[in-house]
Amino acid sequence: MISEAELGHLRRCVDLAAEALADGDEPFGSVLVSASGERLAEDRNRVAGGDRTRHPEFELARWAAANLTPEERAAATVFTSGEHCPMCAAAHAWVGLGRIVYAASSAQLVAWLTEIGAGAPPVNPLPVQEIAPHVTVEGPVERFADELRALHHECHKR
Ligand code: ZN
Repeated sequence: MISEAELGHLRRCVDLAAEALADGDEPFGSVLVSASGERLAEDRNRVAGGDRTRHPEFELARWAAANLTPEERAAATVFTSGEHCPMCAAAHAWVGLGRIVYAASSAQLVAWLTEIGAGAPPVNPLPVQEIAPHVTVEGPVERFADELRALHHECHKR
């Protein structure tokens, strides 16, 4: 179901997550890909400045609303290192974006944060489909799990 090209997009998301961590942010990265497979936009977490809504999926949803037609948005895919949180899942659905492919699920992230001893997030980590029932969602992709788990461990050691 997930092609080699799509694994390449997920690889880029994980690299962006590592880049975010290296820059003092939380390790999350996302890319927006058109129906023809072109990477249109990418971003990574930018919450370190104090605005905790600066998630990459939220930024990509707003970028898509500003730059793509409704048809282009519906045909686009958002690849992301970690499953959308409820805020980002809602933004994704409100702007009418298409499929989501994530490397690690929110359930995996919760398990990792629990083993790290991190506190519970202020927003419930619900699966995307509980927020956006009409969005096609694929993941997790296990080959990235160890690497992402290590990034989150590294993040919470600081
Ligand atoms: Zn989010």
